[in-house]
This record gives sequence, C-alpha cells and structure tokens, in this order.
Amino acid sequence: MIRIGFGTDLHRLVPGSGIALGGIIIPCEYAAEADSDGDVLLHALTDALLGSLALGDIGQHFPKHAVAPGAASHQFVAYAMDLLHKQNASVVNIDGTIDLESPKIGPYRDAMRTAIAEITQIPVDRISIKAKTCERLGPIGEHLALSAQVAVLVETNDSLSA
Ligand code: MG
Repeated sequence: MIRIGFGTDLHRLVPGSGIALGGIIIPCEYAAEADSDGDVLLHALTDALLGSLALGDIGQHFPKHAVAPGAASHQFVAYAMDLLHKQNASVVNIDGTIDLESPKIGPYRDAMRTAIAEITQIPVDRISIKAKTCERLGPIGEHLALSAQVAVLVETNDSLSA
C-alpha cells in the first residue's frame, strides 16, 4: 500500500548568527526562535512521516517541556523513521519546500539533501529540497519568519482487505 504524508512548520526569526535548516547550519544574521534548534524543514519532515501512518504530530510525541533547549532536530526525524520501520513501512521519496527571504538556499541545497539522506537512510536522489522567497511580502518576506512544507510517499506491507 502507498500512503502520503504532509507536514508544515514555521518559526519566528530573531537576530542571530545562523539558522539550523535541513540538518545543517546556514550562517546568516538570523536565528530561528524555538525550544529546539528550530529546524523547520526537519520539523515539517517529522510531521510528514508521522502523518503518513496517522501517528499524530511532533507536538504529541515531543511536548514542549520535554524538549531540551537547542535540541538537535535530527532526533525527531530519526524517531519518526523508527516508528515507520516498526510498522514495516519505508519511505519512497521526500519532497520539501523552504520559504525564506534570505539568505539564498541554493548553495546549501545539496548539503541539506545529504544530511537528510544520512538521518533517514534514504538515497539522496529520492530527496528533493526546493526554496522560495515571498517577494518581500508578509512575515516571511519581511524576514520575521521562515517556514517549510514537506510531502513524503511511504510504502507499507499491509494490503487492502476485501
Ligand atoms: Mg517547529
């Protein structure tokens, strides 16, 4: 059986020296305000993975008070992947989009894909990361926030019963 998962996330931007994004640090004059490291792409990916098997959302599995300040977000993705594996499910592909006015994501795209491949153990050619600006409009366009959306396709071993 094939199932789809979809996740989104948004964090506020504050003055800082870098953003955790897609499992790497992108140096810039901002930081993402968060209890964890604020990696919107990995948070959206975690929700997409959980959503594919109707396993709730990241907030249910990792309540605010249970997250160590600055915690690296790859643990959330690894946790969700583990839940999928326990149900004999595997990820076919990942397609994500980051909304961020600046800096440009292009130079970091392949490093993020490689980082996500390492976390998920999925071949890098099945991991897509796209990026958009918001044309200087709204909270993202005004450098007040960044967000991400991720879709995943998951294959499970269960078959449809008649
Ligand atoms: Mg988040």
